[in-house]
Amino acid sequence: MARRPIIAGNWKMHNNKAAAKELIEGIVAGVKDLDASKMPEVVVAPTYTALWQVQDVIKNEPKIALAAQNVNPNPKGAYTGEISLEMLADFNTKFVIIGHSERRQMFNESDEFINEKAIAILKAGMIPIICCGETLEQREAGVTDAHLEGQITKALKGISAEDVEKSVIAYEPIWAIGTGKSCDAVEANRTIGEIRKVVAKLYSQDVADKIRILYGGSVKPSTIVEQMAQEEIDGGLIGGASLEAGSFIELIKGAM
Ligand code: PEP
Repeated sequence: MARRPIIAGNWKMHNNKAAAKELIEGIVAGVKDLDASKMPEVVVAPTYTALWQVQDVIKNEPKIALAAQNVNPNPKGAYTGEISLEMLADFNTKFVIIGHSERRQMFNESDEFINEKAIAILKAGMIPIICCGETLEQREAGVTDAHLEGQITKALKGISAEDVEKSVIAYEPIWAIGTGKSCDAVEANRTIGEIRKVVAKLYSQDVADKIRILYGGSVKPSTIVEQMAQEEIDGGLIGGASLEAGSFIELIKGAM
C-alpha cells in the first residue's frame, strides 16, 4: 500500500522572526524546481512566535505545510502561556506535533494529556503527529516494544478508525534525539513494524496500512536514503538537520 512520505522539520526553540523568514525562504527556493508529484509531504514546525511569518512565506507554496510544535486541547480560558487550536487555525496550521519526548520529560506531559490533545486536534480538522519512543534504559532492558504499545494505545484511546488512519505517528527513540546517533535503519524499521502491528490490533490491518509512521532521531542527509528504503518507514521527523535550508532540502530529495 502506497503511503505518501512526510519530511517534517521540528525547529524547536530556534529562530526568531527574521531567522525563521530566512530559513523558510531558503526552503521555498530549494523546493521550487522539485517535481511535486514525486515529493514527500514537506512540513515545517516553527515556534509559535514565527508561525505567522512562516505562513506568510508559504501561503502560495502548496509544496510546504505548516505544523505547530504543541497545543493546549482546551478551547479557551485561564491557561496562562498556552495556545489553542483556534489560534493555530489562524495560520492555516495543518499538523500539530504532540507527545515529543522533550515535552514528556521536561514538562511532565502524561499519556492522558497527549490523548486529549490528539482528540482535540482531530476535532479541529488538523492532523496530530504523535511522538513515541523509549529511553536507552528501556531499550537495554528489552521493554521497547511493550513501552511503545502502551504509549500508542493510550494516545489513540477513544479515537475512531477514520481519524487514526489520517493521523501520523513518529517513532523517536529518546537516546537518538539530538545525539548524532541515529537508530540503525533496519532496527528502526522493525520497531515501526511493531507499532503498525499495535495499530492493526487496536483497529484493523487496513488502518495500520494507511497510517503514516515516521522515524525521528538524528536523521541526516547521510542517513535518509537508507532510512527511506525501509518498507515501514514513511518519512522523518527531523530536528537539528532541519535548521539549515541546504540540509533540509537534501532530506527532501533523499525521500524522493
Ligand atoms: C526531534 O526533536 O524530533 C529530533 C528527532 O531531533 P534530531 O533530529 O535533532 O535528533
